[in-house]
Amino acid sequence: MYINGEWIQTNNVLEVSNPATSELVDEVFLVDKTQTEYAIKAAKKAISGWSATTAEKRAVYLNLVAEKLEERKSYFANIITKEMGKSIHNALYEVQAAANFFRWYAEEGRRVYGNTIPTSDNQKRISTIKQPVGVIGAITPWNFPLYMIARKFAPALAAGCTLILKPAPEAPLSSVELFKVFEEVGIPQGVVNLVLGEATEVASALMESHDVKKITFTGSTEVGKILMRQSADTVKKISMELGGHAPFIIFPDADVDLAVEGLVKSKFASTGQQCVSPNRIYVEESIYEIFAERLKDRVSLLKVGNGLDEANDIGAMISEDGLHKTHEHVKDAINKGANLVYGGSRLEDGEHANGYFYSPTVLTDTEEGMKILTEETFGPVIPLIRFSSEDEVIQKANETNYGLASYFYTKDLGRMHRVSEKLEFGIVGVNDPAPFVVQAPFGGVKESGIGKEGGFQGIEEYLETKYVSVLIN
Ligand code: ADP
Repeated sequence: MYINGEWIQTNNVLEVSNPATSELVDEVFLVDKTQTEYAIKAAKKAISGWSATTAEKRAVYLNLVAEKLEERKSYFANIITKEMGKSIHNALYEVQAAANFFRWYAEEGRRVYGNTIPTSDNQKRISTIKQPVGVIGAITPWNFPLYMIARKFAPALAAGCTLILKPAPEAPLSSVELFKVFEEVGIPQGVVNLVLGEATEVASALMESHDVKKITFTGSTEVGKILMRQSADTVKKISMELGGHAPFIIFPDADVDLAVEGLVKSKFASTGQQCVSPNRIYVEESIYEIFAERLKDRVSLLKVGNGLDEANDIGAMISEDGLHKTHEHVKDAINKGANLVYGGSRLEDGEHANGYFYSPTVLTDTEEGMKILTEETFGPVIPLIRFSSEDEVIQKANETNYGLASYFYTKDLGRMHRVSEKLEFGIVGVNDPAPFVVQAPFGGVKESGIGKEGGFQGIEEYLETKYVSVLIN
């Protein structure tokens, strides 16, 4: 762990194993509450120096981080795949996406503008200035063990904040490597701190502290709600990227082949373990059969296996529990009348024997009342649902407490606008199965979260607007 510019060792060691092989990958040291409090002190001490550094200077550090990530892309991708199982193709994409964040916010940091405001009293001059929020506590999940950190650290560092990161215990190695890069490029002592430990213990130090001004979290809605409640005691600012249950709608005028390809790309990325993963696939009845047929043919071509092998399209799942939950959802759907078209079981033969592999799965005739249509499956399963009208499908798509990503396919320009406006989700991909770029604001509505990561909006999350009024006579 990295606290106040030093690597520390403790007596508490966590073993990280490869979900594709069950082999030990590496070990990390765990910290306790007292050490987390020390990290908070270090971040607090560093804030005056870091926030006073010019944006240009901070940009130099951030650009250097981006450069190192790009230089060591395959090294980082290997670590990601080994610690959490996703395919090496997905891992390489993740490293680039992380580098993009550091580069983008190096630039955005230079464009933190205040305003001068026309006043109704000529004796006053009123204006706003933007200042960093302060010390930030960041808690991240295992499914993007590098990228999720970049999405928080890049804007926060650019804004002049200092941070303490608590990564996920399932996949902490990418964060250790990223912190080695922070050290290498010379980010000053105390500005970035890494504290992995028992989640509630580390979190309690962050949440109870008056010095931590904001919590930025990506993870489950359940834990997000706990952190929101705990934030109330010290009135912390919060950014929450929580769960999702994305609808993916194929209208009758869509290009079916494009939609099949898009769905496969989107659904099986990170082995279906993404909060933006399509969970409910609504297909208009006149193209339902042909869509299901082509989807089955396409899915049957996918290769599942150790993510490190470039020939594999889909890697391992994170854990036995994750695999079990996915299989439960599939069984529940089949018991309630869904039709299993492809997959539907754990893969345990040969190269799959020691890992958590699940066959890509296609279900048709899924209906209301099946768990898979309301709970986040977080696995490589595609449930198809039939619909007959635009109004009906919009209503069904919106019938969820989640509101992160949504997707639809159509060639009708009017429909593109109409449906985009009516979908109650923070992100809409129209004929676009991967609408995620650093230039755009990513974030959910309803119980999928609060706040944005990416875009010019992303840095605002780490800035306070201060209002200054000067009486000039
Ligand atoms: P996931 O299902 O993706 O693992 P979680 O919300 O459980 O999602 O985990 C996301 C992050 O939150 C991880 O770093 C995890 O260790 C952390 N976490 C889990 N429980 C708590 C908690 N009660 N308080 C703070 N952080 C927690």
